[in-house]
Amino acid sequence: MTSVIFSENPRLVPELVTAAIEKLGAVDVRAVVLASSQETGASKIASVKGVSKIYELKHDASNLVSQEQVAVKGLEIVCNEARPSFVLVAATRRGREVAPRLATRLGYACITDALNPRLEEGRIVAERVVWGGNAIAKISTKDAVVMTIPPKAHEPATGEANPELRPLEVNPGAEVRVVGRSQKPTGKVNIKDADVVISAGRGFKKKEDLSLLDELAQLLNGVIGASRPLTSDLGWMPEERQVGLSGVTVKPKLYIAVGISGQIQHLTGMRDSKLVVAINTDKNAPIFQECDYGVVGDLYCVIPALIRALRSKKV
Ligand SMILES: Cc1cc2nc3c(=O)[nH]c(=O)nc-3n(C[C@H](O)[C@H](O)[C@H](O)COP(=O)(O)OP(=O)(O)OC[C@H]3O[C@@H](n4cnc5c(N)ncnc54)[C@H](O)[C@@H]3O)c2cc1C
Repeated sequence: MTSVIFSENPRLVPELVTAAIEKLGAVDVRAVVLASSQETGASKIASVKGVSKIYELKHDASNLVSQEQVAVKGLEIVCNEARPSFVLVAATRRGREVAPRLATRLGYACITDALNPRLEEGRIVAERVVWGGNAIAKISTKDAVVMTIPPKAHEPATGEANPELRPLEVNPGAEVRVVGRSQKPTGKVNIKDADVVISAGRGFKKKEDLSLLDELAQLLNGVIGASRPLTSDLGWMPEERQVGLSGVTVKPKLYIAVGISGQIQHLTGMRDSKLVVAINTDKNAPIFQECDYGVVGDLYCVIPALIRALRSKKV
């Protein structure tokens, strides 16, 4: 089975390789990466074991809008040549734009945010979280399909390879024109890649109390995340710190949920963490079904005690 994979972020390509080969049985994996004079080295990062060809799609890195057009057109050319059974696109903001457009052009099916992709009786099957996270839909297709795969859902493939490199150039066209540009304020904290994430939930009574977590985060070298009520509803934390279905997906080595009940929409964003610790006053809170260590207790007592214990270990 032939597969074509794409991400504008070459670091996600090895994860797509794992999904293509280990989950979906691809034997020929062709990667498409964006190459510009400003961004070099994408092909090297994507050259992991299992990739037979890398198409270096020339693009203008200063024109972010044209990236999508270039990617769709380049992928269309590659797919018309390779006739893949499936195309995997990393589910980044850009990937989510690219995948459905590509599927329409190719006449392929399209499954977005595909979890647990696999083969069942010759059909490609995947799961999707639906109805605001209250249900999982199982989708299967016997047709060729374009799927978007959430980052961090698969271990990255390793092992060096020496794939054939092919330059590819397309005319971006003029379907979309940039008429203005403004900088989006970005937070200093990179919650997605942190090894330790400590998330605060509605168990905190007021915004000022969140400072309780500052020292804990410092001692554990972690960053502070939040459940949705604290970001979108109360505005106590910036939205980029929100973990969950409508926030970011994290996969840290240690995730501490403090005063978080553990609703499915939150769990969706953290359940692949290596070790989960929960602190909650309610012994029946759903988070206790999902954690490795649970502390039934008041966060206003447990957090200071934890800080004292960690401090005493540090000296
Ligand atoms: C479409 C959609 C998308 C959503 N996306 C997200 C998302 O991305 N992320 C997200 O988080 N939510 C999301 N939600 C909201 C989600 O359904 C829950 O409402 C939310 O996760 C609950 O947050 P919480 O656990 O902080 O609050 P609650 O559910 O109110 O839980 C608070 C917890 O704190 C405990 N507590 C209270 N006092 C203390 C104390 N002193 N010490 C210790 N524990 C205490 C309580 O026992 C309780 O379990 C979404 C909902 C919808 C419909």
